[in-house]
Amino acid sequence: MVGLAAARGRVLREAVFADRDLPPFDRAGDRITARGAEVRAGTKLLEAGGRVSAAALGLLATVGKVEVAVGRRPRVAVFSTGDELRHPRTATPRPAQIRDANSHMIAARCRGLGLPTRRLGFAPDDPQKLAETIASGLQSDVLFISGGVSMGRYDYVEPVLEAAGVRLLVTAVAIRPGKPFVFGITGESRPILVFGLPGNPVSALTTFEVLARPALEKMEGIPDPRSPRPSVRLLAPVTQHGPRRAFLPARVGISENGELTAQPIRSQGSGDIAAVALANAFVIVPENAGTIPAGESVAAHPLPGFPDAGPGWHDPRR
Ligand code: AMP
Ligand code: MG
Repeated sequence: MVGLAAARGRVLREAVFADRDLPPFDRAGDRITARGAEVRAGTKLLEAGGRVSAAALGLLATVGKVEVAVGRRPRVAVFSTGDELRHPRTATPRPAQIRDANSHMIAARCRGLGLPTRRLGFAPDDPQKLAETIASGLQSDVLFISGGVSMGRYDYVEPVLEAAGVRLLVTAVAIRPGKPFVFGITGESRPILVFGLPGNPVSALTTFEVLARPALEKMEGIPDPRSPRPSVRLLAPVTQHGPRRAFLPARVGISENGELTAQPIRSQGSGDIAAVALANAFVIVPENAGTIPAGESVAAHPLPGFPDAGPGWHDPRR
């Protein structure tokens, strides 16, 4: 149970009913709303499983429901792996060093979703150090690790997770980007979820949005979390050869006739986080689709900022 101030954005675990007629006044007449004209006492006002909006909070206050049962917010831990990683404040990374983008990006997204989040920085490609950071991360309900899940010689995340007692249920997914992706579960009294995201920043964010975010919502108490996948009309062609489903960065706006249109953003691939920073959606290109021409419609996976208010957008990198 939480009080009103803490309820906003949380997921209701119980339905809420009217404690009395709304409005409660009993004089009827010209310009006076009759008692119970809006809601009768006992009417169900809010279903369990919905998020408490600001309006819902106003409603809870109106019916005197000052304590409400809400879902537990999963506590999240995030860290990156890789000997090449340096803190973003590193002024001049040497050749073969890069600044850690992923722990900041995934932690920011989790905090944006309202989840208490610990960012554990980055760990080197060293099984002992990895094991220590994983042990700290498993104090939370959900652990995100980026990097170290490909087939490379220094990709130790999978064996170290298994040694820590994590049961790996998924070790690859047929999406592009994001093929190396690991999902596992551990925990005695309640489940602890572990996501091994690919090291490439675009792949890390894509797998987070497509595969992890629904799991976080499910843990919060949303009964059937699914992203809306509205249909958008392509302003340029997109291509997907091969048996993976592609999620390509795009900017979706609203055309003059009110239709959603998608401008695919030129991307150099799964390292090109600059392309995704311009996107407000992924357009979804089915397995083996070949080239889908401009003018055709595809499904889109919305990201924050979806859609633009108007159609007018151009790629500042062009
Ligand atoms: P990995 O999956 O560890 O082989 O990493 C794949 C690619 O992503 C490599 O080029 C890494 O340098 C890069 N990468 C890995 N982790 C990060 C990170 N935290 N931030 C930015 N790039 C990363
Ligand atoms: Mg690595």
